[in-house]
Amino acid sequence: MNHPLIIGGGLVGLAAAWQLLRSGRAPSLTLLEKEARVGAHQSTHNSGVLHAGLYYKPGSLKARLAVEGVREMTAYCREKNIPHEICGKVVVAVDESEVPRLRELEARGKANGLTGLRWLDRDGLCAIEPHAAGVAALHVPEEGIVDYAAVCGALRNDIEAMGGRIVTGAKVTELHEAGEGWTAATSAGEFTGDFLINCAGLHSDRVCKLAGLDPEDRIVPFRGEYYKLRPEAAHLVCHLIYPVPDPKFPFLGVHFTRLIGGGIEAGPNAVLAFAREAYRKTQWNARDLAEALSFPGLWKFLARHPRMAWDEGLRSLSKKLFCLSLQRLVPDLREEDLAPGGAGVRAQAISPGGELVQDFRLVPGPRALHVVNAPSPAATASLAIGREVIARLP
Ligand SMILES: Cc1cc2nc3c(=O)[nH]c(=O)nc-3n(C[C@H](O)[C@H](O)[C@H](O)COP(=O)(O)OP(=O)(O)OC[C@H]3O[C@@H](n4cnc5c(N)ncnc54)[C@H](O)[C@@H]3O)c2cc1C
Repeated sequence: MNHPLIIGGGLVGLAAAWQLLRSGRAPSLTLLEKEARVGAHQSTHNSGVLHAGLYYKPGSLKARLAVEGVREMTAYCREKNIPHEICGKVVVAVDESEVPRLRELEARGKANGLTGLRWLDRDGLCAIEPHAAGVAALHVPEEGIVDYAAVCGALRNDIEAMGGRIVTGAKVTELHEAGEGWTAATSAGEFTGDFLINCAGLHSDRVCKLAGLDPEDRIVPFRGEYYKLRPEAAHLVCHLIYPVPDPKFPFLGVHFTRLIGGGIEAGPNAVLAFAREAYRKTQWNARDLAEALSFPGLWKFLARHPRMAWDEGLRSLSKKLFCLSLQRLVPDLREEDLAPGGAGVRAQAISPGGELVQDFRLVPGPRALHVVNAPSPAATASLAIGREVIARLP
């Protein structure tokens, strides 16, 4: 491979480019990003957490790449002086009924190779998070918080310093394979390469189709909405407080996150969005909506989980309900402590059978590799995903 074309300048595309150049696997490359800057979507609209691989099924790609990824990302942040802090988190069982699932998480974490996991009783939890409610908790010391926008910037600088070309404002609209490789038609002109790497996040299924491959799974956008804790309530949370998640869903449940730049965020929920880049409730896009509604997998998912879809929709509209979910973790929180926060949109692949695709998924195509599902913790794991991309090259 002499000169691959990478589509998508989020953390996954940047990490793939960085690993390709650093390892010498590609002497040069072009990365095409449709927005004016790198990292404009999921990679900078997230919780800013360094996840350590607690939740994922042992043996899955996610489990392996999350554990490798958090260590590699932390080392990169140290090397580049990127603001980050390994502050640890607690996952809290709010009542006895949640204890068995928390024990399962502990077992998963150990199976996945996490170190320093500690089971806490009520007093142990109070010592770390005095305002958290719960009968037991799991302390995960390897997790932390980071400035992912700074990670994107550092990767961009490194890629360019190693001879990679990053073209922003270049939306790929057509792909043609002929002769020695690919030609991409974009809003900034034509670009060529001898191999294609699709890291298009919320549009990864569409880029697959442009390259002549039907990915079967479709990306369905799930918006995650946040509130911010007003400064007078910030003392209620010291580090990261998470609930025990529902194993049926890849979403972790609304939680509290201390931000690396200061302040505390609460959220995100997981509500179906009416457009792939709908950061506000009122945003919609006719093409995105038509494609989602004509996909049988979405209807099968909704038929299987009507309660989840309904509850998330209601909670999105009601600050009171959002606050009630948060009060399970921190009972002293009051509705007036919450100020509107930002939002992000998750690119979540759903299978034609209506299953949420839980694992990372990389699909080979002719002269191409498509990263078709890279949901959380793909920001944490991005450098490890980049290495996995190289391992999967022909
Ligand atoms: C609300 C929320 C909270 C999250 N919290 C965390 C967390 O705390 N920790 C964690 O590890 N992960 C978290 N995640 C997940 C993480 O942010 C994503 O998994 C990760 O950022 C995915 O990176 P990406 O590069 O695949 O996607 P993106 O960052 O979305 O990048 C894809 C890029 O492709 C570009 N693109 C798309 N189509 C085209 C085209 N046709 N031509 C050119 N460019 C194109 C887009 O503009 C975009 O910049 C969270 C996600 C969300 C939404």
